[in-house]
Amino acid sequence: MDILGKTNLIDPDGAISNALSYHYSIFQTFWSISSVKLTEKIPTAQVSVIPGETPAVLLEINPKFWESLSFKQKTFIIVHECLHVLLAHTYRMKNTDKDMANFAADLIVNHTAVDRFGFVREEIDPDNKLCWWDRFWKEPRWINPTFEELYQKLIKDMPSASAAQLADCHSEAGEDEAWEKVVDKILENASESQKRAISQLAGHQGGDKIIQYKPPIVHKRKWESVIQNWVMKHSGYKYEDNWRQEHRRLSQYDVPANLELHQKNKIKVWFFLDTSGSCEHLAPRFMKAAASLPTDRFDVKLFCFDTKVYPTSLKDGKLYGFGGTRFSCIEQYIQSNSDVYPKAVFVITDGFGDKVNPELPKNWHWFICQGGSAELIPALSKQYKLEDYE
Ligand SMILES: [Zn+2]
Repeated sequence: MDILGKTNLIDPDGAISNALSYHYSIFQTFWSISSVKLTEKIPTAQVSVIPGETPAVLLEINPKFWESLSFKQKTFIIVHECLHVLLAHTYRMKNTDKDMANFAADLIVNHTAVDRFGFVREEIDPDNKLCWWDRFWKEPRWINPTFEELYQKLIKDMPSASAAQLADCHSEAGEDEAWEKVVDKILENASESQKRAISQLAGHQGGDKIIQYKPPIVHKRKWESVIQNWVMKHSGYKYEDNWRQEHRRLSQYDVPANLELHQKNKIKVWFFLDTSGSCEHLAPRFMKAAASLPTDRFDVKLFCFDTKVYPTSLKDGKLYGFGGTRFSCIEQYIQSNSDVYPKAVFVITDGFGDKVNPELPKNWHWFICQGGSAELIPALSKQYKLEDYE
């Protein structure tokens, strides 16, 4: 794919460049130092910083997406990308929950574009589908929250991943040093007041150096949230209570009350706990997570396994096994004991076992304990390293 000059298809008459200077000259600078790549690999637009002697900005844009935008929206997208860079969002999003961090970053950027840089919300988002405070919360909007403050609020309230649309795609690439150089370049010819304004936006008050930003310690999500999200997606249930509390309660929000499904129509969700050693201490949490599923919708079964599968019950929580480890016995057990393949198979293990070829590898969710290995996990299965979680 060629890297195009902006004088080509994207901004043939320089109109966007002019419009950007009207909003703030730093955006024009950002536009002038960016290379644009048209690509259909991403659905919208994405900014990344390319490291090197002179670090550069790469803007990837889907041509169909670009064509679908009004002139105002095109200008907004460039400003949106520039703000992600200036506010170090890639950098600050490391080790966070991606969905919530994406929301937090877009909330900040969209409101900033409207509050400070002269964009009109209805013009840039006529269908009202992007990230705005009032799409998430009824309470009055916070004044100038930092990315981290918004992120923590989102993690606490945990809106559904479809609550709002992102304006763009958010790159995970980024090197701190390259990013700092790019920021310096964007701000090179900016006035002192512009620099100050950006510095304040970044959540860093005052100082000559524009962004002396050190990522704070962000709370990680509990791994149980993977199970909870799956449940919410596959039922009309929502988990309530503060996410930090041990026990989360389920509440119905669009499930007809008292509609107990017949046992055979329930969604099969099976949990398998590796009792061979390193995961045993996680048994109480795993069982609690399994017990949180509503039994009127889900057919929940809990098993222990080593080289064999041992059915156990959520009630007494007895553990069996404690020998070596085989994963193939899980698949064998499913094949001989279930006419319908479970919709979800949650496995908690250190990952040391044998190779398994599940009939539906996509239905398998693997939790790998600290120090464990993901080598034997089927490529199409989902895997979660517990060290990434709380
Ligand atoms: Zn964005």
